[in-house]
Amino acid sequence: MFGQMMKMPLLISSLINHAEMYHGETPIVSVETAGGLTHTCWAEVARRSRKLASSLDHLGMATSECCGTIAWNNHRHLEIYFGVSGSGRVCHTINPRLFPTQLVYIINHAQDKILFLDKTFLPVIAQLRDRLPTVQHFVLMSAQDEEAASLLPGLLFYEDLIAQGDENFVWPELDEQDASSLCYTSGTTGDPKGVLYSHRSTLLHSFAIALPDSMGLSARETILPVVPMFHVNAWGVPYAAAMVGAALVMPGPGLDGGSLLALIDGQHVTLALGVPTIWQGLLRAMEKSESSVPSLRRTIIGGAACPPSMISTFRDQYQVETIHAWGMTELSPVGTVNHLLRKHEQLSEDDQWKLRASQGRPLFGIELRLMGDGGDVMTPDGVVQGNLQCRGHWVVDTYFKAEDSALEEGWFSTGDVSTLDEDGYMTIRDRSKDIIKSGGEWISTVELENIAVAHPEILSAAAIAAKHVKWDERPLLIVVKREGSQLDAPELLRFFEDKIAKWQIPDDVVFVEALPMNATGKLLKNKLRETYGDYLLKKNT
Ligand code: ADP
Repeated sequence: MFGQMMKMPLLISSLINHAEMYHGETPIVSVETAGGLTHTCWAEVARRSRKLASSLDHLGMATSECCGTIAWNNHRHLEIYFGVSGSGRVCHTINPRLFPTQLVYIINHAQDKILFLDKTFLPVIAQLRDRLPTVQHFVLMSAQDEEAASLLPGLLFYEDLIAQGDENFVWPELDEQDASSLCYTSGTTGDPKGVLYSHRSTLLHSFAIALPDSMGLSARETILPVVPMFHVNAWGVPYAAAMVGAALVMPGPGLDGGSLLALIDGQHVTLALGVPTIWQGLLRAMEKSESSVPSLRRTIIGGAACPPSMISTFRDQYQVETIHAWGMTELSPVGTVNHLLRKHEQLSEDDQWKLRASQGRPLFGIELRLMGDGGDVMTPDGVVQGNLQCRGHWVVDTYFKAEDSALEEGWFSTGDVSTLDEDGYMTIRDRSKDIIKSGGEWISTVELENIAVAHPEILSAAAIAAKHVKWDERPLLIVVKREGSQLDAPELLRFFEDKIAKWQIPDDVVFVEALPMNATGKLLKNKLRETYGDYLLKKNT
Protein backbone atom coordinates (compact mmCIF):
# COMPACT_ATOMS: atom_id res chain seq x y z
CA MET A 1 0.00 0.00 0.00
CA PHE A 2 1.35 3.45 -0.89
CA GLY A 3 -1.36 5.46 0.79
CA GLN A 4 -4.43 5.49 2.93
CA MET A 5 -7.32 7.77 3.65
CA MET A 6 -8.49 8.44 7.20
CA LYS A 7 -10.89 5.94 8.64
CA MET A 8 -13.58 7.86 10.46
CA PRO A 9 -16.77 6.07 11.36
CA LEU A 10 -20.02 7.52 9.98
CA LEU A 11 -21.69 8.54 13.25
CA ILE A 12 -24.84 10.48 14.11
CA SER A 13 -22.81 12.51 16.63
CA SER A 14 -20.77 13.88 13.71
CA LEU A 15 -23.96 15.39 12.28
CA ILE A 16 -24.78 17.37 15.39
CA ASN A 17 -21.12 18.34 15.85
CA HIS A 18 -21.07 19.72 12.33
CA ALA A 19 -24.36 21.58 12.80
CA GLU A 20 -23.02 23.15 16.00
CA MET A 21 -19.65 24.14 14.54
CA TYR A 22 -20.74 25.45 11.18
CA HIS A 23 -24.44 26.25 11.46
CA GLY A 24 -24.72 27.02 15.16
CA GLU A 25 -26.92 30.09 14.82
CA THR A 26 -29.35 28.55 12.35
CA PRO A 27 -32.81 28.69 13.95
CA ILE A 28 -34.92 25.79 15.10
CA VAL A 29 -38.49 26.90 15.82
CA SER A 30 -40.70 24.53 17.73
CA VAL A 31 -44.38 24.47 18.65
CA GLU A 32 -44.77 23.43 22.29
CA THR A 33 -47.24 20.69 23.19
CA ALA A 34 -49.09 23.17 25.39
CA GLY A 35 -49.01 25.82 22.62
CA GLY A 36 -46.62 28.70 21.99
CA LEU A 37 -43.32 28.76 20.11
CA THR A 38 -39.81 27.99 21.38
CA HIS A 39 -36.92 29.52 19.45
CA THR A 40 -33.64 27.66 19.63
CA CYS A 41 -30.75 26.94 17.22
CA TRP A 42 -28.43 24.10 16.19
CA ALA A 43 -25.77 25.10 18.77
CA GLU A 44 -28.34 24.95 21.55
CA VAL A 45 -29.76 21.63 20.30
CA ALA A 46 -26.20 20.25 20.30
CA ARG A 47 -25.45 21.54 23.81
CA ARG A 48 -28.68 20.15 25.24
CA SER A 49 -28.30 16.80 23.50
CA ARG A 50 -24.87 16.40 25.14
CA LYS A 51 -26.42 17.24 28.51
CA LEU A 52 -29.13 14.67 27.90
CA ALA A 53 -26.53 12.04 26.95
CA SER A 54 -24.67 12.61 30.21
CA SER A 55 -27.91 12.33 32.19
CA LEU A 56 -28.59 8.99 30.51
CA ASP A 57 -25.20 7.84 31.86
CA HIS A 58 -26.30 8.91 35.34
CA LEU A 59 -29.56 7.03 34.98
CA GLY A 60 -27.51 3.90 34.28
CA MET A 61 -28.58 3.46 30.67
CA ALA A 62 -26.13 1.02 29.07
CA THR A 63 -24.87 1.33 25.50
CA SER A 64 -27.21 -0.16 22.90
CA GLU A 65 -30.22 -0.11 25.21
CA CYS A 66 -33.45 1.18 23.70
CA CYS A 67 -34.91 4.53 24.73
CA GLY A 68 -38.50 4.94 23.58
CA THR A 69 -40.11 8.21 22.52
CA ILE A 70 -43.83 8.90 22.22
CA ALA A 71 -43.79 12.46 21.06
CA TRP A 72 -44.66 15.16 18.54
CA ASN A 73 -42.16 16.91 16.30
CA ASN A 74 -40.51 19.39 18.64
CA HIS A 75 -37.07 20.57 19.71
CA ARG A 76 -36.86 18.17 22.65
CA HIS A 77 -37.56 15.23 20.37
CA LEU A 78 -34.75 16.50 18.13
CA GLU A 79 -32.37 16.64 21.10
CA ILE A 80 -33.37 13.08 22.03
CA TYR A 81 -32.59 11.91 18.47
CA PHE A 82 -29.00 13.13 18.82
CA GLY A 83 -28.50 12.64 22.58
CA VAL A 84 -29.70 9.03 22.57
CA SER A 85 -28.15 7.79 19.31
CA GLY A 86 -25.02 9.92 19.63
CA SER A 87 -24.24 8.33 22.99
CA GLY A 88 -24.62 4.78 21.65
CA ARG A 89 -28.16 4.03 22.74
CA VAL A 90 -30.99 3.23 20.36
CA CYS A 91 -33.67 5.85 19.76
CA HIS A 92 -36.92 3.94 19.44
CA THR A 93 -39.62 6.22 18.09
CA ILE A 94 -43.11 4.95 18.84
CA ASN A 95 -46.24 5.75 16.91
CA PRO A 96 -48.61 7.03 19.62
CA ARG A 97 -51.79 6.22 17.78
CA LEU A 98 -51.21 2.49 17.65
CA PHE A 99 -53.72 0.38 19.56
CA PRO A 100 -52.75 0.04 23.25
CA THR A 101 -52.06 -3.69 22.74
CA GLN A 102 -49.64 -2.83 19.93
CA LEU A 103 -47.93 -0.18 22.08
CA VAL A 104 -47.45 -2.75 24.82
CA TYR A 105 -46.18 -5.28 22.28
CA ILE A 106 -43.53 -3.04 20.74
CA ILE A 107 -42.30 -1.46 24.00
CA ASN A 108 -41.85 -4.94 25.48
CA HIS A 109 -40.37 -6.32 22.27
CA ALA A 110 -37.80 -3.50 22.14
CA GLN A 111 -37.28 -3.78 25.92
CA ASP A 112 -37.27 -0.01 26.23
CA LYS A 113 -35.55 1.05 29.45
CA ILE A 114 -36.70 4.63 29.38
CA LEU A 115 -39.71 6.27 27.81
CA PHE A 116 -39.75 9.94 26.82
CA LEU A 117 -43.27 11.25 26.34
CA ASP A 118 -45.18 14.39 25.53
CA LYS A 119 -47.99 15.26 27.90
CA THR A 120 -50.64 14.41 25.28
CA PHE A 121 -49.75 10.73 25.64
CA LEU A 122 -49.39 10.60 29.42
CA PRO A 123 -52.92 9.29 30.15
CA VAL A 124 -52.46 6.31 27.79
CA ILE A 125 -49.03 5.45 29.13
CA ALA A 126 -50.13 5.85 32.77
CA GLN A 127 -52.83 3.24 32.09
CA LEU A 128 -50.39 0.84 30.45
CA ARG A 129 -47.62 1.26 32.97
CA ASP A 130 -48.16 -2.07 34.75
CA ARG A 131 -47.83 -3.89 31.44
CA LEU A 132 -44.44 -2.30 30.65
CA PRO A 133 -42.06 -4.13 32.98
CA THR A 134 -38.81 -3.20 31.18
CA VAL A 135 -39.33 0.56 31.47
CA GLN A 136 -37.37 1.89 34.44
CA HIS A 137 -37.90 5.61 33.86
CA PHE A 138 -40.75 7.63 32.38
CA VAL A 139 -39.65 11.14 31.38
CA LEU A 140 -42.16 13.87 30.59
CA MET A 141 -40.79 16.12 27.87
CA SER A 142 -41.35 19.35 29.77
CA ALA A 143 -40.42 21.25 32.92
CA GLN A 144 -41.84 20.02 36.26
CA ASP A 145 -45.58 19.58 36.16
CA GLU A 146 -47.47 18.62 39.32
CA GLU A 147 -50.63 17.55 37.56
CA ALA A 148 -48.63 15.17 35.36
CA ALA A 149 -46.66 13.84 38.33
CA SER A 150 -49.90 12.86 40.03
CA LEU A 151 -50.91 10.78 37.00
CA LEU A 152 -47.73 8.72 36.90
CA PRO A 153 -45.87 8.32 40.20
CA GLY A 154 -42.08 8.46 39.83
CA LEU A 155 -42.34 10.53 36.65
CA LEU A 156 -39.10 12.36 35.74
CA PHE A 157 -38.99 15.69 33.94
CA TYR A 158 -36.90 16.33 30.86
CA GLU A 159 -35.84 19.83 31.87
CA ASP A 160 -34.47 18.42 35.17
CA LEU A 161 -32.35 15.93 33.21
CA ILE A 162 -31.05 18.75 31.03
CA ALA A 163 -30.32 20.97 34.05
CA GLN A 164 -28.34 18.19 35.75
CA GLY A 165 -26.49 17.15 32.57
CA ASP A 166 -22.90 17.97 31.62
CA GLU A 167 -22.58 20.13 28.52
CA ASN A 168 -18.95 19.03 28.15
CA PHE A 169 -20.00 15.42 27.60
CA VAL A 170 -17.84 13.88 24.86
CA TRP A 171 -19.55 11.72 22.24
CA PRO A 172 -18.18 8.17 22.34
CA GLU A 173 -16.29 6.65 19.38
CA LEU A 174 -18.78 4.04 18.21
CA ASP A 175 -18.66 1.53 15.42
CA GLU A 176 -20.59 2.88 12.44
CA GLN A 177 -22.43 -0.43 12.15
CA ASP A 178 -23.82 -0.03 15.68
CA ALA A 179 -27.57 0.33 15.98
CA SER A 180 -28.77 3.93 16.26
CA SER A 181 -32.54 3.91 15.97
CA LEU A 182 -35.51 1.62 15.75
CA CYS A 183 -38.85 1.96 14.03
CA TYR A 184 -41.70 -0.52 13.79
CA THR A 185 -43.86 -1.02 10.72
CA SER A 186 -47.47 -0.10 11.33
CA GLY A 187 -48.57 -3.73 11.63
CA THR A 188 -51.78 -3.67 9.65
CA THR A 189 -51.24 -7.41 9.18
CA GLY A 190 -49.85 -9.29 12.18
CA ASP A 191 -47.54 -7.90 14.83
CA PRO A 192 -45.50 -4.81 13.95
CA LYS A 193 -41.96 -5.60 12.83
CA GLY A 194 -38.95 -3.62 14.01
CA VAL A 195 -36.41 -2.15 11.59
CA LEU A 196 -33.11 -1.36 13.30
CA TYR A 197 -31.12 1.38 11.57
CA SER A 198 -27.36 1.81 12.02
CA HIS A 199 -25.27 4.98 12.24
CA ARG A 200 -23.83 4.09 8.85
CA SER A 201 -27.17 3.50 7.13
CA THR A 202 -28.53 6.73 8.64
CA LEU A 203 -25.55 8.81 7.47
CA LEU A 204 -25.60 7.36 3.96
CA HIS A 205 -29.36 7.94 3.74
CA SER A 206 -28.80 11.55 4.89
CA PHE A 207 -26.22 12.19 2.15
CA ALA A 208 -28.57 10.68 -0.41
CA ILE A 209 -31.72 12.58 0.52
CA ALA A 210 -29.86 15.88 0.68
CA LEU A 211 -28.65 15.67 -2.96
CA PRO A 212 -30.07 18.09 -5.57
CA ASP A 213 -32.06 15.49 -7.52
CA SER A 214 -33.34 14.12 -4.26
CA MET A 215 -34.76 16.49 -1.62
CA GLY A 216 -32.21 19.15 -2.60
CA LEU A 217 -31.60 20.38 0.96
CA SER A 218 -29.34 23.30 1.78
CA ALA A 219 -28.34 25.81 4.45
CA ARG A 220 -30.69 28.35 2.86
CA GLU A 221 -33.78 26.22 3.38
CA THR A 222 -36.39 26.50 6.15
CA ILE A 223 -37.90 23.04 6.41
CA LEU A 224 -41.21 22.07 7.96
CA PRO A 225 -41.27 18.31 8.54
CA VAL A 226 -44.98 17.64 8.98
CA VAL A 227 -44.23 13.95 8.62
CA PRO A 228 -43.96 12.81 12.24
CA MET A 229 -40.66 11.99 13.90
CA PHE A 230 -42.30 8.71 14.92
CA HIS A 231 -42.88 7.89 11.25
CA VAL A 232 -39.57 6.54 9.94
CA ASN A 233 -37.58 9.30 11.59
CA ALA A 234 -39.53 12.03 9.80
CA TRP A 235 -38.17 10.57 6.56
CA GLY A 236 -34.62 11.19 7.82
CA VAL A 237 -35.03 14.97 7.60
CA PRO A 238 -33.75 15.80 11.13
CA TYR A 239 -30.41 14.12 10.36
CA ALA A 240 -30.08 15.56 6.85
CA ALA A 241 -31.06 19.04 8.11
CA ALA A 242 -28.17 18.88 10.61
CA MET A 243 -25.85 17.71 7.82
CA VAL A 244 -26.64 20.69 5.58
CA GLY A 245 -27.43 23.20 8.34
CA ALA A 246 -30.99 23.89 7.27
CA ALA A 247 -33.39 25.72 9.58
CA LEU A 248 -36.20 23.60 10.99
CA VAL A 249 -39.76 24.44 11.96
CA MET A 250 -41.20 21.70 14.18
CA PRO A 251 -45.02 21.73 14.13
CA GLY A 252 -45.76 20.04 17.47
CA PRO A 253 -49.31 18.67 17.79
CA GLY A 254 -51.09 21.10 15.45
CA LEU A 255 -51.25 19.26 12.13
CA ASP A 256 -54.54 20.71 10.87
CA GLY A 257 -54.45 22.86 7.75
CA GLY A 258 -55.02 26.15 9.60
CA SER A 259 -52.16 25.62 12.07
CA LEU A 260 -49.78 24.53 9.31
CA LEU A 261 -50.70 27.50 7.17
CA ALA A 262 -50.04 29.91 10.06
CA LEU A 263 -46.68 28.26 10.65
CA ILE A 264 -45.66 28.32 6.98
CA ASP A 265 -46.52 32.00 6.63
CA GLY A 266 -45.28 33.02 10.09
CA GLN A 267 -41.92 31.23 9.86
CA HIS A 268 -41.35 31.69 6.12
CA VAL A 269 -41.12 27.98 5.46
CA THR A 270 -39.57 27.17 2.06
CA LEU A 271 -39.97 23.38 2.01
CA ALA A 272 -42.58 21.20 3.70
CA LEU A 273 -42.87 17.42 3.75
CA GLY A 274 -45.76 15.09 4.50
CA VAL A 275 -48.32 12.55 3.34
CA PRO A 276 -51.09 13.57 0.89
CA THR A 277 -53.85 13.72 3.54
CA ILE A 278 -51.96 16.43 5.40
CA TRP A 279 -51.77 18.54 2.27
CA GLN A 280 -55.47 18.10 1.59
CA GLY A 281 -56.08 19.87 4.91
CA LEU A 282 -53.56 22.56 4.04
CA LEU A 283 -55.03 23.17 0.59
CA ARG A 284 -58.49 23.55 2.09
CA ALA A 285 -57.21 26.01 4.67
CA MET A 286 -55.40 27.94 1.94
CA GLU A 287 -58.56 28.11 -0.13
CA LYS A 288 -60.57 29.41 2.84
CA SER A 289 -58.02 31.97 3.99
CA GLU A 290 -56.93 33.06 0.52
CA SER A 291 -53.31 32.92 1.68
CA SER A 292 -50.92 32.28 -1.16
CA VAL A 293 -48.05 30.81 0.94
CA PRO A 294 -45.51 33.12 -0.74
CA SER A 295 -42.46 31.65 1.02
CA LEU A 296 -43.24 28.01 0.19
CA ARG A 297 -41.32 26.86 -2.87
CA ARG A 298 -41.55 23.07 -2.66
CA THR A 299 -43.47 20.27 -0.99
CA ILE A 300 -42.24 16.70 -0.88
CA ILE A 301 -45.14 14.29 -0.81
CA GLY A 302 -44.89 10.56 -0.20
CA GLY A 303 -45.99 7.77 2.09
CA ALA A 304 -49.06 7.24 -0.11
CA ALA A 305 -49.72 8.06 -3.75
CA CYS A 306 -49.90 11.77 -4.41
CA PRO A 307 -52.86 12.43 -6.74
CA PRO A 308 -51.81 14.33 -9.90
CA SER A 309 -54.65 16.78 -9.18
CA MET A 310 -52.88 17.77 -5.95
CA ILE A 311 -49.63 18.40 -7.84
CA SER A 312 -51.43 20.67 -10.31
CA THR A 313 -53.33 22.57 -7.62
CA PHE A 314 -50.10 23.37 -5.80
CA ARG A 315 -48.42 24.35 -9.06
CA ASP A 316 -51.16 26.35 -10.76
CA GLN A 317 -52.77 28.08 -7.82
CA TYR A 318 -49.83 28.56 -5.46
CA GLN A 319 -46.68 28.26 -7.62
CA VAL A 320 -45.44 25.49 -5.32
CA GLU A 321 -43.49 22.61 -6.85
CA THR A 322 -44.55 19.17 -5.64
CA ILE A 323 -41.90 16.48 -5.57
CA HIS A 324 -43.31 12.98 -5.39
CA ALA A 325 -41.30 10.40 -3.44
CA TRP A 326 -41.71 6.78 -2.41
CA GLY A 327 -40.33 4.83 0.49
CA MET A 328 -41.03 2.55 3.38
CA THR A 329 -39.94 1.85 6.94
CA GLU A 330 -37.67 -0.91 5.66
CA LEU A 331 -35.85 1.65 3.46
CA SER A 332 -35.08 4.29 6.11
CA PRO A 333 -37.43 5.32 4.27
CA VAL A 334 -36.55 6.99 0.95
CA GLY A 335 -36.19 4.84 -2.18
CA THR A 336 -37.22 7.03 -5.10
CA VAL A 337 -37.72 10.75 -5.73
CA ASN A 338 -39.19 12.30 -8.86
CA HIS A 339 -37.09 14.74 -10.89
CA LEU A 340 -36.62 15.14 -14.61
CA LEU A 341 -33.55 14.13 -16.58
CA ARG A 342 -31.62 16.36 -18.94
CA LYS A 343 -33.37 14.86 -21.99
CA HIS A 344 -36.77 15.81 -20.58
CA GLU A 345 -36.00 19.52 -20.66
CA GLN A 346 -37.09 19.55 -24.32
CA LEU A 347 -40.54 18.16 -23.52
CA SER A 348 -43.67 20.27 -23.30
CA GLU A 349 -44.71 21.29 -19.79
CA ASP A 350 -47.64 18.90 -20.01
CA ASP A 351 -45.42 15.94 -20.83
CA GLN A 352 -42.97 16.93 -18.11
CA TRP A 353 -45.74 16.93 -15.52
CA LYS A 354 -46.97 13.56 -16.72
CA LEU A 355 -43.52 12.15 -15.94
CA ARG A 356 -43.48 13.88 -12.59
CA ALA A 357 -46.67 12.17 -11.44
CA SER A 358 -44.84 8.88 -10.94
CA GLN A 359 -43.01 7.98 -7.72
CA GLY A 360 -39.68 8.84 -9.36
CA ARG A 361 -36.26 7.26 -9.82
CA PRO A 362 -34.02 5.41 -7.38
CA LEU A 363 -31.52 7.48 -5.42
CA PHE A 364 -27.88 6.46 -5.59
CA GLY A 365 -27.67 3.63 -3.07
CA ILE A 366 -30.95 1.95 -4.05
CA GLU A 367 -31.54 -0.58 -6.83
CA LEU A 368 -35.00 -1.65 -7.97
CA ARG A 369 -36.28 -4.57 -10.00
CA LEU A 370 -39.63 -6.15 -10.86
CA MET A 371 -40.38 -9.78 -10.17
CA GLY A 372 -43.01 -11.72 -12.08
CA ASP A 373 -45.33 -14.09 -10.27
CA GLY A 374 -43.40 -17.00 -11.77
CA GLY A 375 -40.19 -15.83 -10.07
CA ASP A 376 -38.56 -14.28 -13.16
CA VAL A 377 -37.07 -10.79 -13.27
CA MET A 378 -39.09 -8.63 -15.68
CA THR A 379 -37.62 -6.27 -18.25
CA PRO A 380 -38.60 -2.73 -17.33
CA ASP A 381 -40.62 -1.14 -20.13
CA GLY A 382 -42.91 1.22 -18.26
CA VAL A 383 -45.92 -1.02 -18.96
CA VAL A 384 -45.56 -4.47 -17.42
CA GLN A 385 -46.27 -4.51 -13.73
CA GLY A 386 -44.66 -6.80 -11.21
CA ASN A 387 -43.67 -7.19 -7.59
CA LEU A 388 -41.22 -4.47 -6.67
CA GLN A 389 -37.98 -5.58 -5.03
CA CYS A 390 -35.04 -3.50 -3.89
CA ARG A 391 -31.62 -3.61 -2.31
CA GLY A 392 -29.30 -0.91 -1.09
CA HIS A 393 -27.21 0.72 1.61
CA TRP A 394 -30.17 1.60 3.81
CA VAL A 395 -32.49 -1.35 3.20
CA VAL A 396 -33.39 -3.81 5.97
CA ASP A 397 -31.60 -7.16 5.99
CA THR A 398 -33.19 -8.83 9.03
CA TYR A 399 -36.05 -7.48 11.13
CA PHE A 400 -35.23 -6.63 14.74
CA LYS A 401 -34.81 -9.80 16.80
CA ALA A 402 -35.97 -11.99 13.90
CA GLU A 403 -34.09 -15.17 13.20
CA ASP A 404 -34.40 -15.28 9.45
CA SER A 405 -33.29 -12.76 6.90
CA ALA A 406 -36.05 -10.62 5.35
CA LEU A 407 -34.42 -11.05 1.93
CA GLU A 408 -34.95 -13.39 -0.99
CA GLU A 409 -31.64 -13.99 -2.77
CA GLY A 410 -30.33 -10.67 -1.50
CA TRP A 411 -33.40 -8.62 -2.46
CA PHE A 412 -36.14 -7.18 -0.28
CA SER A 413 -39.71 -7.63 -1.54
CA THR A 414 -41.58 -4.41 -0.91
CA GLY A 415 -45.13 -5.78 -1.19
CA ASP A 416 -45.85 -3.14 -3.82
CA VAL A 417 -46.95 -3.82 -7.37
CA SER A 418 -45.43 -1.32 -9.77
CA THR A 419 -44.10 -0.55 -13.22
CA LEU A 420 -40.56 0.59 -14.01
CA ASP A 421 -39.48 2.26 -17.21
CA GLU A 422 -36.14 2.20 -19.01
CA ASP A 423 -34.97 5.32 -17.14
CA GLY A 424 -35.89 3.89 -13.74
CA TYR A 425 -39.10 5.89 -13.24
CA MET A 426 -41.24 3.77 -10.96
CA THR A 427 -45.02 3.96 -10.70
CA ILE A 428 -46.79 2.29 -7.81
CA ARG A 429 -49.90 0.55 -9.07
CA ASP A 430 -50.94 -0.69 -5.66
CA ARG A 431 -49.96 -2.62 -2.59
CA SER A 432 -50.22 -6.27 -3.56
CA LYS A 433 -52.81 -6.83 -0.85
CA ASP A 434 -54.97 -3.91 -2.01
CA ILE A 435 -54.99 -4.43 -5.77
CA ILE A 436 -58.37 -5.50 -7.18
CA LYS A 437 -58.38 -8.83 -9.00
CA SER A 438 -61.43 -8.72 -11.22
CA GLY A 439 -61.97 -11.77 -13.41
CA GLY A 440 -58.23 -12.37 -13.74
CA GLU A 441 -57.46 -8.71 -14.57
CA TRP A 442 -55.86 -6.32 -12.12
CA ILE A 443 -57.29 -2.91 -11.33
CA SER A 444 -55.17 -0.31 -9.53
CA THR A 445 -56.96 1.27 -6.57
CA VAL A 446 -54.45 4.14 -6.70
CA GLU A 447 -55.54 5.02 -10.23
CA LEU A 448 -59.24 4.98 -9.29
CA GLU A 449 -58.60 7.19 -6.27
CA ASN A 450 -56.55 9.66 -8.31
CA ILE A 451 -59.45 10.07 -10.73
CA ALA A 452 -62.05 10.40 -7.96
CA VAL A 453 -60.19 13.14 -6.10
CA ALA A 454 -59.71 15.07 -9.33
CA HIS A 455 -63.50 15.61 -9.28
CA PRO A 456 -64.09 19.11 -7.90
CA GLU A 457 -66.74 17.92 -5.45
CA ILE A 458 -64.74 15.06 -3.92
CA LEU A 459 -62.53 15.64 -0.90
CA SER A 460 -61.09 12.15 -0.43
CA ALA A 461 -61.57 8.71 -1.87
CA ALA A 462 -60.71 5.07 -1.31
CA ALA A 463 -61.16 2.24 -3.78
CA ILE A 464 -61.36 -1.29 -2.44
CA ALA A 465 -61.87 -4.80 -3.71
CA ALA A 466 -65.45 -5.81 -2.92
CA LYS A 467 -66.43 -9.46 -3.30
CA HIS A 468 -68.40 -10.27 -6.42
CA VAL A 469 -70.28 -13.43 -7.39
CA LYS A 470 -69.17 -13.45 -11.00
CA TRP A 471 -65.85 -11.57 -11.09
CA ASP A 472 -64.46 -12.54 -7.63
CA GLU A 473 -63.70 -8.89 -6.91
CA ARG A 474 -64.97 -5.62 -8.29
CA PRO A 475 -63.95 -2.05 -7.43
CA LEU A 476 -66.07 -0.20 -4.91
CA LEU A 477 -65.46 3.49 -4.35
CA ILE A 478 -65.88 5.05 -0.92
CA VAL A 479 -65.77 8.83 -0.93
CA VAL A 480 -66.13 11.97 1.12
CA LYS A 481 -67.93 14.82 -0.68
CA ARG A 482 -67.41 18.52 -0.21
CA GLU A 483 -69.88 20.16 2.16
CA GLY A 484 -73.20 20.84 0.48
CA SER A 485 -72.41 18.79 -2.64
CA GLN A 486 -75.38 17.10 -4.34
CA LEU A 487 -73.18 14.70 -6.32
CA ASP A 488 -74.65 11.20 -6.65
CA ALA A 489 -73.13 7.83 -7.61
CA PRO A 490 -74.11 7.75 -11.33
CA GLU A 491 -72.75 11.24 -11.88
CA LEU A 492 -69.45 10.45 -10.18
CA LEU A 493 -69.09 7.20 -12.13
CA ARG A 494 -69.69 9.10 -15.40
CA PHE A 495 -66.62 11.19 -14.50
CA PHE A 496 -64.54 7.99 -14.94
CA GLU A 497 -65.83 7.26 -18.43
CA ASP A 498 -63.24 8.89 -20.64
CA LYS A 499 -60.40 8.27 -18.20
CA ILE A 500 -60.08 4.48 -17.90
CA ALA A 501 -61.31 1.31 -19.58
CA LYS A 502 -64.98 0.64 -18.98
CA TRP A 503 -64.39 -2.61 -17.08
CA GLN A 504 -62.19 -0.75 -14.59
CA ILE A 505 -64.90 1.73 -13.58
CA PRO A 506 -66.10 1.03 -10.02
CA ASP A 507 -69.39 -0.86 -9.67
CA ASP A 508 -70.75 1.49 -7.06
CA VAL A 509 -70.05 4.41 -4.76
CA VAL A 510 -70.58 4.73 -1.01
CA PHE A 511 -70.68 8.26 0.42
CA VAL A 512 -69.28 8.60 3.94
CA GLU A 513 -68.48 11.42 6.37
CA ALA A 514 -64.81 10.45 6.81
CA LEU A 515 -62.38 7.73 5.78
CA PRO A 516 -60.48 5.73 8.40
CA MET A 517 -56.80 6.67 8.55
CA ASN A 518 -53.90 5.25 10.50
CA ALA A 519 -51.61 7.37 12.64
CA THR A 520 -49.48 8.35 9.68
CA GLY A 521 -52.39 9.54 7.58
CA LYS A 522 -52.72 6.47 5.39
CA LEU A 523 -56.04 4.93 4.45
CA LEU A 524 -56.92 1.87 6.49
CA LYS A 525 -58.07 -0.22 3.56
CA ASN A 526 -58.26 -3.42 5.58
CA LYS A 527 -60.83 -1.71 7.80
CA LEU A 528 -62.80 -0.55 4.77
CA ARG A 529 -62.71 -4.07 3.35
CA GLU A 530 -64.03 -5.42 6.67
CA THR A 531 -66.93 -2.95 6.56
CA TYR A 532 -67.71 -2.85 2.84
CA GLY A 533 -66.17 -6.07 1.48
CA ASP A 534 -69.62 -7.69 1.12
CA TYR A 535 -71.37 -4.52 -0.06
CA LEU A 536 -71.88 -5.68 -3.65
CA LEU A 537 -72.93 -9.20 -2.61
CA LYS A 538 -75.55 -7.80 -0.25
CA LYS A 539 -76.75 -5.29 -2.80
CA ASN A 540 -77.29 -7.93 -5.43
CA THR A 541 -79.24 -10.36 -3.25
P1 ADP B 1 -44.36 3.77 6.40
O1 ADP B 1 -45.11 4.76 5.56
O2 ADP B 1 -44.46 3.93 7.84
O3 ADP B 1 -43.04 3.45 5.84
P2 ADP B 1 -45.04 1.41 5.49
O4 ADP B 1 -43.64 0.96 5.50
O5 ADP B 1 -46.12 0.53 5.97
O6 ADP B 1 -45.20 2.59 6.36
O7 ADP B 1 -45.44 2.05 4.12
C1 ADP B 1 -44.71 1.84 2.99
C2 ADP B 1 -45.68 1.73 1.86
O8 ADP B 1 -46.36 2.95 1.64
C3 ADP B 1 -45.03 1.41 0.56
O9 ADP B 1 -44.72 0.05 0.46
C4 ADP B 1 -46.10 1.86 -0.41
O10 ADP B 1 -47.12 0.89 -0.56
C5 ADP B 1 -46.71 3.05 0.28
N1 ADP B 1 -46.14 4.28 -0.28
C6 ADP B 1 -45.16 5.03 0.20
N2 ADP B 1 -44.93 6.09 -0.59
C7 ADP B 1 -45.81 6.00 -1.62
C8 ADP B 1 -46.09 6.78 -2.78
N3 ADP B 1 -45.44 7.91 -3.04
N4 ADP B 1 -47.06 6.35 -3.60
C9 ADP B 1 -47.75 5.22 -3.36
N5 ADP B 1 -47.54 4.46 -2.28
C10 ADP B 1 -46.58 4.83 -1.42
